[in-house]
Amino acid sequence: MANTKIVATIGPSSFQREPLLSMYENGLSVIRINTAHIEPGYIAKVADFVDKLNKETGKYVGIMVDLKGPELRTGQFKGGELRVRPGEQFSLSSENNGPITFSHPEIYNILEPRDMILMSDGKIRMKVVSKKSGGIVLESLDDGSLRDRSRVNIPGKFLPLGNLTDRDISYLKEGIKANVDMFAQSFVQRKEDVEELQEIIMKEGGDQFVVSKIETKNGFQNIREIAKVSDFIMVARGDLGVELPLKEVAIAQKKIIEESHMQGVPTIVATQMLESMVKSSSPTRAEVSDVTNAIMDNADALMLSEESSIGEYPDLAVKYLKDIAEYVESRNVHLVEPEEFLGNQVAYSIARAAKMISIEIKADAILAFTKTGNTAKMLSAVRPNVPIIATVISGRLARKLNLYRGVEPLVIDGGDENIEPVEALAYVERKTFLKRGDRVIITSGAPYFLFGGTNEVRVATVGKFIGRGYSSGKSVAGKAFTPISKAGDILILEEPEVPEGIQISKLKAVIFIPSVSTKLKEEIRGKGVTVLSNTKLAGSIKPGDIVHIDGSTGVITQ
Ligand code: PGA
Ligand code: MN
Repeated sequence: MANTKIVATIGPSSFQREPLLSMYENGLSVIRINTAHIEPGYIAKVADFVDKLNKETGKYVGIMVDLKGPELRTGQFKGGELRVRPGEQFSLSSENNGPITFSHPEIYNILEPRDMILMSDGKIRMKVVSKKSGGIVLESLDDGSLRDRSRVNIPGKFLPLGNLTDRDISYLKEGIKANVDMFAQSFVQRKEDVEELQEIIMKEGGDQFVVSKIETKNGFQNIREIAKVSDFIMVARGDLGVELPLKEVAIAQKKIIEESHMQGVPTIVATQMLESMVKSSSPTRAEVSDVTNAIMDNADALMLSEESSIGEYPDLAVKYLKDIAEYVESRNVHLVEPEEFLGNQVAYSIARAAKMISIEIKADAILAFTKTGNTAKMLSAVRPNVPIIATVISGRLARKLNLYRGVEPLVIDGGDENIEPVEALAYVERKTFLKRGDRVIITSGAPYFLFGGTNEVRVATVGKFIGRGYSSGKSVAGKAFTPISKAGDILILEEPEVPEGIQISKLKAVIFIPSVSTKLKEEIRGKGVTVLSNTKLAGSIKPGDIVHIDGSTGVITQ
């Protein structure tokens, strides 16, 4: 499965068993509910369905509820449309009501002559030509039509519209009640906007993550301080492409990812990733290239909007993202590490150490025994090349961690804070791709789940520890036997010599309990057979047992 995570917006095309299960299969991490297009009660319906599918598949797909914020829009027009021509002037004030009005007349007060106003996705530009008490006069620069409730953008102006509408608050309450995992906040302009939402979530009894959508010029300019207080950052290219000149969006994306990642904050790249797949069963060359570049820009996650909500191929779109991500990641693209990490410096150093050790000993995975998920976040941010298995005891936490790049959450069913490390490791072995003899790095606090802070990094071999000897040779697995038992591949000897009649070159390894002469060791090694000497056994090895020897550490596991 790809390390890069996938978010898909749910809608009529995907809110059904079939496409959704196939999206699960292809690595869907989080489902986004866009509250612009829903009715009360929808969040709970999605949440129930997702809970059911998660149980069925053993996956931890999370839910993000996207709150729209106070959008500035025009009012309605006679006949639903208003034709405007270059040079045409319009007077807007809180008293008159036409032909153009804004949904928030208080905005007139903060506008100044020469301010530029973009309507209908930037297709109609109007300039403020004069200001009078309680109103403004606009002049159109373009030829075209405005439709009822067209979006209005005023790039670079701080808009004092407040943060959340009544509609947002009601969906926020619904989301908290339905135990969703995160809220996305639209049009974030500064860090106070994020803090305000966090406070409301807390007051309403929630613990959801906040995803700050960067889609205004102000938000972009304040990215550093916004990232500092956010759980996730979304590069919301739809509206950002209206607020910034289109040619600037790709470089803004790189800057937003870099500024966030520098502080260890993960990012989601959104909008028009595979837009043509709304109607077509395959993407364009340019879209595949855009997805590739977003991954190489160091994004944590990619998001689908209409492709998965109203498109004809929601499941294929997810599969394309997964396939592209797997390919790009297989090319060993170098991704930078954060320069600083907000929060616990000890844990951050441990994450970096874990990555370094994982490279040097060619580990198969990093296991984070984590209580708050912070270690999983840090491990993800340092971009190791092996999967990070975030081992937790809470299903709610698992769903949040599922959006961190490279993190595979695993809940220890029925586990509590006092679970023994050996037990936890055995559980991981049963439930993941890891098998006996695989080498893992474990990061944890001590005792494991009780102490929130990670302060330990260690190397372990998956499987039951049987003993350890002084090793020379490569790692092998095989059937154990003794000179008097039936044949096998790994010979165990109580004596410092090999009995007559044994053909050494046919073996995988010889385990000597005592120490043996260098000459004999070299003779065996010369035949390509691994040797352990001076072996201390913690348990007994019975003839016929399948055992694993780690060639470089000499650890024997079963
Ligand atoms: P939206 O946000 O789809 O909610 O508008 C994403 C964007 O603007 O890109
Ligand atoms: Mn938007």
